[in-house]
Amino acid sequence: MHVVMIGGSDAGISAALRARELDPAADVTVVLEDAYPNFSICGIPYYVSGEVAHWRNLAHRTLADLEAAGMRLRTDTTARRIDVPGRKLLVTTADGGEEVLGYDKLVVGTGAVPVRPPIGGLAGPDALGPADGVHLLHSMGDTFAVMRTLEQAAPASAVIVGAGYIGLEMADALTVRGLRVTQMEQLGEVLPTVDPQLGTLVHAELAAHGVEVLTGTTVQAISTASPGGPGRLQVKAVTADATSVTRQADMVLVVVGVRPETALAADAGATLGVKGAIVVDPMMRTGLPDIFAAGDCVITHHRLLGQVYLPLGTTAHKQGRVAGENVLGGNRQFAGSLGTQVVKIFDQAAARTGLREHEATPAGYAPVTTETTADDHKAYYPGSHRITVRVTGDQATGQLLGMQLFGHKNAEIAKRVDIAATAIYHGMTVDAVSDLDLSYTPPLGSPWDAVQMAAQAWVRQTHPR
Ligand SMILES: Cc1cc2nc3c(=O)[nH]c(=O)nc-3n(C[C@H](O)[C@H](O)[C@H](O)COP(=O)(O)OP(=O)(O)OC[C@H]3O[C@@H](n4cnc5c(N)ncnc54)[C@H](O)[C@@H]3O)c2cc1C
Repeated sequence: MHVVMIGGSDAGISAALRARELDPAADVTVVLEDAYPNFSICGIPYYVSGEVAHWRNLAHRTLADLEAAGMRLRTDTTARRIDVPGRKLLVTTADGGEEVLGYDKLVVGTGAVPVRPPIGGLAGPDALGPADGVHLLHSMGDTFAVMRTLEQAAPASAVIVGAGYIGLEMADALTVRGLRVTQMEQLGEVLPTVDPQLGTLVHAELAAHGVEVLTGTTVQAISTASPGGPGRLQVKAVTADATSVTRQADMVLVVVGVRPETALAADAGATLGVKGAIVVDPMMRTGLPDIFAAGDCVITHHRLLGQVYLPLGTTAHKQGRVAGENVLGGNRQFAGSLGTQVVKIFDQAAARTGLREHEATPAGYAPVTTETTADDHKAYYPGSHRITVRVTGDQATGQLLGMQLFGHKNAEIAKRVDIAATAIYHGMTVDAVSDLDLSYTPPLGSPWDAVQMAAQAWVRQTHPR
């Protein structure tokens, strides 16, 4: 049995590892178009900031580790065409040569590519690019280009287009490196994946660290600035009330989201669904014979919403593992996502899981959200921090639908959102969160954890006795 994975990132490598784990005799080949298998692209901001000293440290596993696990890695090799009836994959190698690889089962893990928004200066024959200090950011190749700009052009300032989680992490990273950062976001508040009430707190943290945050500001054009100004690039934007905004900076980073990379699978006949991602069933089968797909290139089953496009590393790992099991005849199903995520912004963290009101209402729920603040541990023990917790529950049934948290990076925000994720996964009511037997000692927690206090406040406010 020869299993071929296309893509050497979270999904492809997870599938390969699982297949090898289940059957040490399985013949597994991973085809990847660059030379960086199993790199943690989630860690890129921390390499850019200098907190991770060397790019090699971003590898989840080294090439040698992966080979020791028994997989064959075809680096610098691009999959070009899938011959579905012939079970063959046409690839091109680094020297431009063509080769045909036979397969019994195939896993497509081609991931996502960064969106290039319709901003003047980003497209066409005269488009600005890395050599001019204008960057998109997704791959290790993009990272090396950013580092070249930082090290060779020594920029003093940067404009970041987009204030999603990657834009925020990069604002943090570039500020830590000593750049003056302006962040431009077309929506009304930063980190639009959380409610604006928490986005405002994130905004304040950025501002407290010197980031100029311009929300409600749509970037229209990037161009080369006239010499003698405060930066080599000029960014023109317009605010919601049609006021023009211009900033000059030495570097521009455009991070406005990703789209699934599906050309290969679509050409082979795979069905595309929401946001153009590959449709898969819970076993990660594409519907094409012997072809599975996983990660940022596929639709994701959301436990409360059904089919969505939700590109996340955690999900890519899980889906890849499911695919890796099923290519060997397994019967594993991807259990579904809740969109659980967390981001560090300087000294604070923001997290969410499940649904916000505008997502829950169209899904047929009657969502109500309450906001509470509580200490991460007993305030009499030094170093306690206030956490803001927003709980969304269904007014009709009391079901916990979502939770969002904001607080100090040492206040266990990530693990607290995971309590909520676990509760939502198991369909618990908000009230039942109070029954969970959570740990307590004054330096680390409270008899009622912050999450439980927030749940109790939701019950008090929505179901008064
Ligand atoms: C800066 C940054 C920070 C992030 N932080 C987080 C985080 O904190 N938490 C989180 O959950 N997620 C995070 N993510 C998202 C996460 O990294 C992705 O969801 C995850 O890497 C997706 O894995 P994947 O294997 O599906 O796709 P990708 O990582 O996109 O990998 C696909 C691979 O396939 C290769 N490929 C594509 N087409 C071909 C072809 N035809 N032939 C050969 N190879 C091909 C590509 O070169 C690429 O290496 C972050 C992403 C970035 C960029």
